[in-house]
Order: sequence, then C-alpha cells, then structure tokens
Amino acid sequence: MKTYDTQIVVIAAGPSGLCAAVQAAEDGASVIVLEKAATVGGAANMGMGPLGIGTKYQKQQMIDISVEKAFNMFMEYTHYMVDARLVKRYFEQSAETIEWLEDLGVEFEGAFRYFPKSEATWHIVKTDRSIGPRAASFMNKALYSKALELGVSFMMETPAKKLLIEEGKVAGVLAVNKNGEEIKISCKAAIICTGGAGANKELIKQETGFTQGVDMFNFAIPGLVGDGLKMAWEAGAGKTPVRIEMAANIEGCDELPQGVSNVFSQPNLLVNKLGKRVMNEDHMQNATYLSNVVSHQKDKVCYSIVDTSIIKAYIRNGVDVVSLVRTNPDVSDFYEGIKIAQENGSKDFFVADTIEELAEKAGINVESLVNTVDDYNDYCDSVDEEFFKEKKYLRPLSKAPFYCAKVRPGGYGTVGGVRINENCEAITDEFEAIPGLYCAGTDACNIYDDSYMFLLPGNSMGFAVNTGRIAGMSAAEYVEE
Ligand SMILES: Cc1cc2nc3c(=O)[nH]c(=O)nc-3n(C[C@H](O)[C@H](O)[C@H](O)COP(=O)(O)OP(=O)(O)OC[C@H]3O[C@@H](n4cnc5c(N)ncnc54)[C@H](O)[C@@H]3O)c2cc1C
Repeated sequence: MKTYDTQIVVIAAGPSGLCAAVQAAEDGASVIVLEKAATVGGAANMGMGPLGIGTKYQKQQMIDISVEKAFNMFMEYTHYMVDARLVKRYFEQSAETIEWLEDLGVEFEGAFRYFPKSEATWHIVKTDRSIGPRAASFMNKALYSKALELGVSFMMETPAKKLLIEEGKVAGVLAVNKNGEEIKISCKAAIICTGGAGANKELIKQETGFTQGVDMFNFAIPGLVGDGLKMAWEAGAGKTPVRIEMAANIEGCDELPQGVSNVFSQPNLLVNKLGKRVMNEDHMQNATYLSNVVSHQKDKVCYSIVDTSIIKAYIRNGVDVVSLVRTNPDVSDFYEGIKIAQENGSKDFFVADTIEELAEKAGINVESLVNTVDDYNDYCDSVDEEFFKEKKYLRPLSKAPFYCAKVRPGGYGTVGGVRINENCEAITDEFEAIPGLYCAGTDACNIYDDSYMFLLPGNSMGFAVNTGRIAGMSAAEYVEE
C-alpha cells in the first residue's frame, strides 16, 4: 500500500472541493485532493455560475437584493425547516466569494435572473463565447490553476473509499488509484465533497421513492453515486433527507432541434392524465415548481398542448419566454424536430387533427380534455377564472393539427444527506462535531427543505463554492490548532 501524509484531504474536485482546497491552502494548510474522475469540476462543468447577494454587479445593475431580503425570503420559502445560521453565513459570504473568485482570475458577465419571477442572483461566468451552458467550467479551470499554484496535490482517477477514524478523530483516508493500488493518506482533517448520489438509481429509489427512467428523469454525471454520503454516515455523521434537486423534464427532446423543447416549455395549456389543468402555467418557467406539480399527478405525467396557430405565432414572433440556457426565441425548426421524432417512433410527442384524437393518442381522458379546452378557449376571450393565468399567455387552441408533449419530473441530481453545522463540520445526530470531518456542496446541501429554491438562482453552485470555502477555512483552523 502506498502511503502519504498531509494535513487535509479534500475528497473530490467539483466546485466545493476545489474551493475547499484553495481556501485551505491559502490559509496555510497542506492539502491533497482525491478525485474519482479524470477531470476536475464535477457537475458544475455543465452549469453557468453561482449565486451572489449584494455584489458589485447587482449594485451596478441597480438590482434590489440584499442579504436581509434574500434570507427572509429563503426562510419563509423553507418554512424555517432549515439551518438559519448556515443559510445566513452562506448568503453573507456570497458577495465576497464572487470577488475572491475574480481574484483567482474568474470573470463574470453580471447578475441574472433565471426566469422573470426570480431574483437576479445568478452570476454567470464569462467565457470565450456568448452566454450559455458549460460557462462554469471556466471557473473550475481557474480554481484548479490556483490550487496547483498554492502547492495542492491532485490524485486523479483515485476515488476515496473510507475514512480512518482513530480515538473519535479523523486520522486518514483510504483510496484506490487508477492502477488499482490501495493508497493510505494520513491526515488530521478530511473534507467530503462528492456531489451526492444523482447517478445511483438504488439510492434514489430508497431515499426518494422515484424510479430513474420511469417517473424521474434526472441528469447526473457518472460517478456521483453517494460515496461521500456513505463514508460520512459510516464515520458517524448524522443523516438528513436525500432529495432530488427538482427540475421538470420534457421527455425525448435531447436529440431533437431545440425548437421542440422550446415550444413545449412555454406557458402553454398544461393538463394531467385526467384532462384537467393543474396550475397557473405562468409558473412553468420555474422548473422546480413544474417538477413538483407533475410529481403529484396521476402516473407522474403532464402534457403541454399547442395548436397550429400558437406554433405559427411562436415561429413568427419568437417564443414568449426565453432563458439564458435556451436563449434563442427562434423555433422555426419545430416542424423538422417533430418529423424526426415521428420517424424515430417517439412515444413522447403526439399530433392529431382533433382534441379528441389527441387525447386518445396521449392517453388523456377524452371528454374531460374537450371540456378543459372549451373552458380554456373561453378564458382566452375574458380572464382565466380557473388559475388566474396572465392574459398575454392565454392563446386559444382551435386550429388543427394539435400537438402535445409529455412533461415528467426531473432533476439536477440529489441534494443533502450529511448533517453539518454553519462551520461545515460534520455533526452526529446528537449535534456533536466529529473532530476533523467536514462536508460541503451537494453532499451537505440540506438548506432547501423539500424544494430547490429557484427564485434565487445559482443557489446550488453558490452553496457549493461558499460551503467549500467555509469547510476549507474551518479545517485549516482545526489542523493549525
Ligand atoms: C446541467 C447542469 C447545470 C447546472 N447549472 C447550474 C448553475 O448554473 N448554477 C447552479 O447554481 N447550479 C447548477 N447546477 C448544479 C451544480 O452543478 C452543482 O450544485 C455543483 O456542481 C455541486 O458541486 P459539488 O462540488 O458539491 O459536486 P459536483 O460538482 O457534483 O462534484 C462532485 C465530484 O465528486 C467526485 N467524486 C465522486 N465520488 C468520489 C470519490 N469517492 N472520491 C473522489 N471523488 C469523487 C466526482 O467525480 C465529481 O468530480 C447544474 C447542474 C447540472 C447537472
């Protein structure tokens, strides 16, 4: 067995692990990072940026958001079911973290909303191209370079397997390198940052009841199978609920031109299998709300429905709602996409000449859908008496052919599982800190209660970078003592 010695082992190099490593090294500790994958950055390589509150960008852009406002909003949203001290520390540090990242060479485009009803807390990382997915990979690269500059060692393709605890304190970490050799690193502190269990079907089923690929369409990078959760629990850390970071999914769109997903994610008429409306569709833009709504319908499915005039209007004028992930309002490739889906025998999209036929094909209650469409068309001429949908999104369904797509619960992986305090110390169910054990990012993200807080976007990467730093500070202080 190969042996090494250091003060702190950071387990994983996603944004929380990278921030923990840089912060601990800046604070004078010697650090080794163990990473399972061949690259650093974890899931954040797919994302766009972290939350910041009270940043210079918000001030420059005259955006009215303060730590006090965000904190109160957050605590009300979560019904005070979460650790107020941790939320406060995270929010309070978030503006300084944006500057800390800038000092490492990260640049930001500014502060943005995810959808109109959200706050502009999403700090999108600047890249060498226009705003879009994967921007945060530039942040990860800058963090990695800084870590190397500070003397942090990285062992890639070397997953941590077990924590060594002696006399109740962290004493080391066991890992296996890419050649299959066992490694033992003696250390005083370990920081677990392994990104949850989004790719572990069994754990998701056991902890949340969802079946991946059947009633849950969760995207997670391979390797996020709950290693950190299991190591922390085995070492005595308390267990908190593991939940899905919900974001609804329009099935079968991945391989199709973007116009298809863009059309069906508009605030169209949304019904369940019973043929009934289920929400004010204005709120469909909040992917967490949409996923929540769908997850308590019959068979956990809803249908987004449009007619030919609506598609024509979207193609002519652009869609009503764009996002920074789907920035292009042009959906002129919609028909081409539907043709491809039909040629591929897709069971996720349905096309029909009447509402009755559409309901039959999709498996929606026929009589009820006909009544719902009748009522909905009436609301389009007056007001939405059922759910108070905004007038500008009310468009009648009258011109054949009619189209519908299935909407399913989805997510960005799991959140939560390891009990921590505001210093990111892993604590037992008796709320006692396990000396030398820290946890940050997704594994410890217990702050949303049952629903991801999309109204303050950038929240999960924001939690990762800020708790990574807090864990790094706390661990560096502990090993110094
Ligand atoms: C498509 C997509 C877009 C997103 N966009 C945003 C966004 O714009 N803003 C936002 O706030 N959030 C976003 N998120 C969520 C965000 O990416 C996560 O909150 C963030 O990456 C969590 O960071 P983390 O360090 O906790 O874990 P991760 O980034 O998931 O990293 C975990 C790391 O742990 C490693 N690992 C696992 N097991 C072991 C082991 N045993 N030993 C060593 N290493 C191990 C993995 O290989 C991985 O590198 C997005 C997520 C997805 C999927």
